[in-house]
Amino acid sequence: MLVIYILGVTEMDVRPADILVMKKNHPCGSKSMYVIRAGMDFKLRCTGCGREFMVPRNKIERHIKQICRDTPENEKK
Ligand SMILES: [Zn+2]
Repeated sequence: MLVIYILGVTEMDVRPADILVMKKNHPCGSKSMYVIRAGMDFKLRCTGCGREFMVPRNKIERHIKQICRDTPENEKK
């Protein structure tokens, strides 16, 4: 097994306002989802078509390719 998982070793640190880049495209063609709420269930909004939906954490985590966060500087201060 040569595949190394960078994400998925520990529980993902997904926070509201993060952008999730998914492994699979949404039917509208967009790959990124905006996180409205994170908890047991994630509330996501597709950045392509604007559709919102709830997804259980354990179901969505394996489909996440990358987490983008716009404001990392706020935390280091
Ligand atoms: Zn979409």
